[in-house]
Amino acid sequence: MTSRSRMRWAAAAGFSAAVCMALALGGPVPAAAAGKAAQVGQAAGKARTVPVRLIAVNDFHGNLEPPTGSGGRIVNEAGQTVDAGGAAYLATHIKALADRNSTVVAAGDLIGATPLISAAYHDEPTVELLGKLGLSVSSVGNHEFDEGYRELLRISHGGCHPTDGCSPAGKWRGARYDYLGANVRLKKAPALPALAPFSIRKINGVKVGFIGLVTKTTPSIVTAEGIKDLTFADEVESANRTSRALRLLGVRAQVVLVHEGDQVTPNQSPDACPVIVGAGSRIASGVSAEVDMVVMGHSHQAYVCKTKDPAGADRYVSQGSSFGRVLTTLDFKVDTRTKDVVRSTVAVDNHVVTRDVPADPEIERFVRTWKERVSEVANRRVGTITADLTRTPGPSGESPLGDLIADAQLAATKPGGNAEIALMNPGGIRADLTHAPDGVVTYGEVFTVQPFNNLMQVVTLTGARLDALLEQQYQVNRVLQPSASLTYTVSASAPVGSKVSGIKVNGTPVTETQQIRVAANNFLVGGGDGFSVFTEGTDVWSGPLDIDALVSHFTANSPVSPPATDRITVVP
Ligand SMILES: [Zn+2]
Repeated sequence: MTSRSRMRWAAAAGFSAAVCMALALGGPVPAAAAGKAAQVGQAAGKARTVPVRLIAVNDFHGNLEPPTGSGGRIVNEAGQTVDAGGAAYLATHIKALADRNSTVVAAGDLIGATPLISAAYHDEPTVELLGKLGLSVSSVGNHEFDEGYRELLRISHGGCHPTDGCSPAGKWRGARYDYLGANVRLKKAPALPALAPFSIRKINGVKVGFIGLVTKTTPSIVTAEGIKDLTFADEVESANRTSRALRLLGVRAQVVLVHEGDQVTPNQSPDACPVIVGAGSRIASGVSAEVDMVVMGHSHQAYVCKTKDPAGADRYVSQGSSFGRVLTTLDFKVDTRTKDVVRSTVAVDNHVVTRDVPADPEIERFVRTWKERVSEVANRRVGTITADLTRTPGPSGESPLGDLIADAQLAATKPGGNAEIALMNPGGIRADLTHAPDGVVTYGEVFTVQPFNNLMQVVTLTGARLDALLEQQYQVNRVLQPSASLTYTVSASAPVGSKVSGIKVNGTPVTETQQIRVAANNFLVGGGDGFSVFTEGTDVWSGPLDIDALVSHFTANSPVSPPATDRITVVP
């Protein structure tokens, strides 16, 4: 039975059934047989431990082409900043690190928030690529749920997209690797997992059990609609429950793949440990001593840490940055008699995916094929503009493109989220829209302006908190781009903290206790760019992607002219 059909089965039939079937498939080797094998090994003078290598990647986010800008650079072990990432280079590095004792594993966010080359095809190109690279098992990340649970099941198991149909590559055959989520449960039956909780792989003749987990904060960072049938349980509790099941199956070599992690100080070596203690550390120290190592993701950081498990033994924790810039090797020996990892043999190392190696020709061809295909999507006309729309701020801090994006976001969040105003972070506007001779705006151009696939959200703030939020702009030195429905005055000479006055929504002065529905992307609503007041918002509603909001705006309002940047009035 293939691993994929096992996953399907486990997802459909639930956790206890999965355990039963796994028992039937290959449970504990009877003690007598195990003893005999060990004796034979000894008699033949063979080593009683066998080497295993895991090659781990996380937060790939569909970076088929070498990522550009700061996302395509990383500090290496020597402290130098080098270019890194790109599927064809990743392939070369994996081939150099792989042998018959190895397998490739991952810790989620392989898809979602991806460049157009992958996003335009619901990330099928990325999932196909990862199969080609030998990926065998991954935890899900929060971004695996970006298009919803049903879509994740389609990506895993195959079939064409329900509305967009088959991609140019033909019928989608599903992922060649298992997506695991031991803490992802069905709301209507919380005892049942919504995804396979674990996978068992035979590597170099020994069984290794992989437990997949995703951050329990997923509901607050993913569109609610797509995961409305799911709950996300505590990672540690779920890991330990699954670990016990693996042990019942006689699987003692256990690896946690968890899409959660910690931050590190900027520019430290990818092999350094110090982390800023957070959710990753909680999981790293909390999971059962049966678990031999913990591979992380989510925070896009690179680290290798030797920590202690609850029984006091050394246990490694690692993460490999993001976008395919770093691969982690986890080498260890498994005792063929105890079936367990010999902890003293574990060695973990982060490798930068440099571009000074030859690009893998097959993968390079694969990426080029999708690049040619996506050019059609990229060239799709979404509307027209009458002049350049720039992100260059004027004296008030507003830019024409920023104001336009805020207007688009308000229009997209009014119907479902009852938004009254919208605010956009200027740092999230990645390019200008320049006027072509025919004035046409293409999907590719709009995607370049808003490439993050951020979710639009709406929260309620009181008039007093909106005032505090607007004051905060002058503490963090970033002026949020306002929709036309929000106007206010800023005093250039007033001290920070009392610069803003005359706040009006739709022309009406705002009172301190008034409840205002404020739209912003999920990054800002989460307190991004230092806008902590946003996190005080209540009644969070999640809506469409920011890119879709902007595309819809062009489709509905073309030809679009640059708006006047007069929503903020600056006085001396
Ligand atoms: Zn994540």
